[in-house]
Amino acid sequence: MDALPGLDPSAPPLAVENLQVEFRTDIGVAKVVNGVTFSVSAGETLAILGESGCGKSVTAQAIMGILDTPPGFVTGGEIRYRGVDLLKLSEQQRRVVRANKIAMIFQDALSALNPVFTVGFQLGELFRKHRGMSRADARKRSIELLDMVKIPAAKDRVSDFPHQFSGGMRQRVMIAMALALDPEVLIADEPTTALDVTVQAQVMQLLAELQAERNMGLILITHDMGVVADVADRISVMYAGRVVEEAPVYDIYANPAHPYTKALLESIPRVDLKGQQLRAIGGLPPALTNLPPGCSFAPRCRYAQDVCRQSPAPQLHTVSPSRGARCHFWQEVIGDE
Ligand code: SF4
Repeated sequence: MDALPGLDPSAPPLAVENLQVEFRTDIGVAKVVNGVTFSVSAGETLAILGESGCGKSVTAQAIMGILDTPPGFVTGGEIRYRGVDLLKLSEQQRRVVRANKIAMIFQDALSALNPVFTVGFQLGELFRKHRGMSRADARKRSIELLDMVKIPAAKDRVSDFPHQFSGGMRQRVMIAMALALDPEVLIADEPTTALDVTVQAQVMQLLAELQAERNMGLILITHDMGVVADVADRISVMYAGRVVEEAPVYDIYANPAHPYTKALLESIPRVDLKGQQLRAIGGLPPALTNLPPGCSFAPRCRYAQDVCRQSPAPQLHTVSPSRGARCHFWQEVIGDE
């Protein structure tokens, strides 16, 4: 790894700068990720929040180098691990970063695990391939990892197949696999969506504990504002391929500066706002093959004015040193009860 050109241990373990991803389809070019910028430090949790189709999972796939190409193409920007732009690395160098430094867990653990091999074999393969361990040592390490993610009777369960685990336990196996090679950053793409609420909380608690123990950067991709409130340090809210607001978690919940963030908050039940009516966000996100001029949220925005419908799209305005909002009228939004 030290052979990576320009490696800077003092740089953040992951920084994404002006990332552009497009999908070339039969009905046109969809700008799925349109200038996304964020970074995550060691020990920090960044939540990337937004509706389905806003580009958050494609951003993660681009970081990991697992985009389906075609139709998906990274057309601009940088994805830096400790200062090294991953987009300029060879596929072999990229694979080494992916296996050892930046790992990912997926929403659907059943389809991410191979159904015909035991979980012990799948975990052991990682150690044999990347650490050159013997079969016996790899098995021992696999049991330790299953123990670490709190799978009861790990010694026996290491010989089970994925379908023999419950949804929550399978997600724990996925976490064990992702952490096997001690990554510096873990990307968790909707890790608890397929689980019931109690198991969701247990898996999130486990992720938070492991992150703290390892001082790892965590990127949590989700559409669920309830999941991020307890665990995130910062939130980047995405809409139609862009980050429209980024802020420390407290600021987002206490006083959103972008109408979309505000609308998301108004659409979920909150114990601190008992009796307040929930509001659905009217309309639909725009087609990414045909984005409207100006602000993409304008057709659904109750603060929209004529300037919002004209090019150029609003820039990310500095709300405070630690937060920004891509809205011409963020001052009105932030002051509006
Ligand atoms: Fe709404 Fe205009 Fe702000 Fe866009 S720029 S979010 S349309 S107020």
